Amino acid sequence: MWRPTRYGEEDFAAFREAMEASSVEAAVIHAVYLINCASKDTELRRKSLASLTQALRIGDGIGAAGVVLHPGAQKGEPLGPSMKRAAKTIAAALKDSEGCPLLLEQTAGHKGLLGRDFDQTAELIELAGSGARLGLCLDSCHLFVQGYDITDEAHLGDVLDEADAKVGLERLRCVHVNDAAAPLGSCRDRHANVGKGEMGRRGLAAFLSEPRFEGLPATLETPGPEKKGPDEKEVATAKGLRREGLKRRGG
Ligand SMILES: [Zn+2]
Repeated sequence: MWRPTRYGEEDFAAFREAMEASSVEAAVIHAVYLINCASKDTELRRKSLASLTQALRIGDGIGAAGVVLHPGAQKGEPLGPSMKRAAKTIAAALKDSEGCPLLLEQTAGHKGLLGRDFDQTAELIELAGSGARLGLCLDSCHLFVQGYDITDEAHLGDVLDEADAKVGLERLRCVHVNDAAAPLGSCRDRHANVGKGEMGRRGLAAFLSEPRFEGLPATLETPGPEKKGPDEKEVATAKGLRREGLKRRGG
């Protein structure tokens, strides 16, 4: 849906108050899926910019840890100009908002979707001006289907070394915790419930206990038991797997 919700200062204050009174420590916004910052279509790009800017302003209002964005889709257009258009839209949205971080989510490696590997994400950040508000969001399912076998602690460590060398881990501001319903290297973005997919309990335990993720907001984007999203029980499962992983790492 493109139609933005009009929030006012009172709504923001109420949100911040409710969050302070709750056990939730961080809120992360996901930008609307219709957005395509790379689109060649001027009208679609204009709508994308307006929607992204609005999300960042809401992020400013509620003190969000960031707005997560899928950087864009080529839709058959050449890579170079698509990257430039995406970066320009992103830079414009940052300019028109205060300080909320914009977190580029690494995609599942599907050809034609920008941000399909660390090189592309790094290039996008550079093209968009390399500002401190530009950050990274890593999704366990996306990394796995991209071909990184992150179900193993040592291999996950190598992947983060690569992310650090190319993007810089100081930009990593949140993680998405999903099991994969598609195989390693399949480049298919299909999420499974935590511990129930190709990564399994062992793999998610490794991901959730990664020391360099310590303190970061983590979001479940799984189908959940009723296909209505994750429930409390699945959050508890994820927390349990994190404890298992920490134990295995000798922590
Ligand atoms: Zn995600």
